[in-house]
Amino acid sequence: MAWAVSGIGVGEGLALGRAWVLAPASFDLPRRSLEQDQIPEEKARFSAALEVVSAEFDQLRATLGQDPAAEVRAFLDLQSIVLHDPLLVDATHARIETEACNAEWALVQQFELVAEQFDSIEDPYLRERKADVQQLVERVLKVMQGAEGLSSALKQQRSQDLPVDLPWILVAHDIAPSDMLLIREHQFAGFATDSGSPTAHTAILARSLGLPAVVGLQSLHGLVKQGEEIVLDAASGTVLGSLDAGLRADVHQRLAEERLRNERLKRLKSLAAVTLDQVPISLLANLDLPEDAQAALDAGCDGVGLFRSEFLFMNRATPPTEEEQFNAYSQVVQTMAGRSVTIRTLDSGADKDVPALSAGRQIPTNPALALRAIRLCLAEPELFLTQLRAILRASALGPLRIMIPLVSGPQEVVLARRLIQQAMDQLSSRGLAFDRAVRIGAMIEVPSAAITIDSLLAHIDFASLGTNDLIQYTLAIDRTDSEVAHLYEPLHPAVLRLIRDVIKACDRAGTSISLCGEMAGEPGFTQLLLGLGLREFSMHPIELLRVKQEILRSDFAALSRPTGRLLRLPDAKRIRAGLPNLSKSSPQDLRSTTA
Ligand code: PEP
Ligand code: MG
Repeated sequence: MAWAVSGIGVGEGLALGRAWVLAPASFDLPRRSLEQDQIPEEKARFSAALEVVSAEFDQLRATLGQDPAAEVRAFLDLQSIVLHDPLLVDATHARIETEACNAEWALVQQFELVAEQFDSIEDPYLRERKADVQQLVERVLKVMQGAEGLSSALKQQRSQDLPVDLPWILVAHDIAPSDMLLIREHQFAGFATDSGSPTAHTAILARSLGLPAVVGLQSLHGLVKQGEEIVLDAASGTVLGSLDAGLRADVHQRLAEERLRNERLKRLKSLAAVTLDQVPISLLANLDLPEDAQAALDAGCDGVGLFRSEFLFMNRATPPTEEEQFNAYSQVVQTMAGRSVTIRTLDSGADKDVPALSAGRQIPTNPALALRAIRLCLAEPELFLTQLRAILRASALGPLRIMIPLVSGPQEVVLARRLIQQAMDQLSSRGLAFDRAVRIGAMIEVPSAAITIDSLLAHIDFASLGTNDLIQYTLAIDRTDSEVAHLYEPLHPAVLRLIRDVIKACDRAGTSISLCGEMAGEPGFTQLLLGLGLREFSMHPIELLRVKQEILRSDFAALSRPTGRLLRLPDAKRIRAGLPNLSKSSPQDLRSTTA
């Protein structure tokens, strides 16, 4: 009989393949006492294992080329930092020496100390980085124990008589960094891990590799046999095994449909995003780092609707200089070759802690409501002026707009504009070029700004709905807290009314309005948003073609009419995979919430 195990689906699609089960390294290792003269040799053995793992990273970097996705690079950088961390490396060496013990035991003891420190971190994203450290330690342990990496294991297994009729699906307790290389090289169809949550790096990795994955399966790797035929369904977050003929045929049909859909999607790249009734829709990209601009362009974006500048401030001890920031913004503007680029000023704080800025400040009781984003920039004018000068200088190179995050009302925009003027004066006195008519807009993501949008409009040239935060603040749901994730509801009537009212107010005033939260990249919401009057969508480039497909089959006028054709019911299963707790609203319900 077929079996199914549930976890959290990540990424796209469905995969049918044979399980390649990767055994985890054991942390339950015996302590071996050493003679004094054995200690140097033991320390050398530990150093050699670190070098092997370090070389694996170098190989991985080389394979990823010049511009790996920002998430992958950030992950690799973190692993490299950990690999040289004194608390893990120097302290393990010291332990081998002072306790005259084997390197494996010393490393595991040291890891447990580090793990305790991670457990006490409040920020869930940083807390989950413990899993990254654990994987690194696992890899070092495996090397010291002479265990094969995935690469040699695969080669060995290829020489055995295992079936090669289907692609491999990697099943592991967790995926080690060195295995990332193999996932790419050997073209795995997907992966399934026991550990992980939507913000853990395996999930981030799956998204950036465009592979289907299911994480958080608890103990799958102990259940599945090597080479067993399994199905991985990212949409429902399930892994299925012991397939019978009916189920197998069903899966083959779904895979064929998916292939066809993807082929059709690629053909849409060169088509303009226009609705059936000829309303042009702008499809813009959300970028975290300048290196991602080329991929966005390749995906066919019309420009950049959101450049999250705060990522330039992360993973470093001090904020980036004006010159460093100028280079980053210029790169985006130049890559976009005449297309509009919206740079959001520093949106630090809450889930995006910037240690270089938070060091020395008291830890806020409510990080999402604290001195962050524009509030911090107004409190630290020199920091803000440096960024504004860099952005303004890039505005001389192509169309660029400045967007202010977390605006709660007109006053912040008035103060920000004063500082923008001051930055312009500073550049003029240095004889540097910039766009004097640069457009200045606001993120509409705080309910007060959405409710009083009319009073804001006199102060801004454009607006962008940040629904990720607008939902969080409207529904009082911390978007990073997994215990309330099921209450995070994009289709809540309060949220839909705010979106509708902001779009209508902007339309009346002739002010450009876009939406750059995750909702924009979810095809199940495309018709709903068109029906609310939205004409500018900004999203992760990977979502662009699927949203374009929805647009091409939509009638803008009919969707906007109260008596028009009913909104298509969003594909609840698919949406629920990315956006938890979709209400079971019918199209009529959705209509009535916004009527
Ligand atoms: C948002 O809040 O919707 C948004 C786009 O910004 P971020 O996710 O960076 O807060
Ligand atoms: Mg936001």
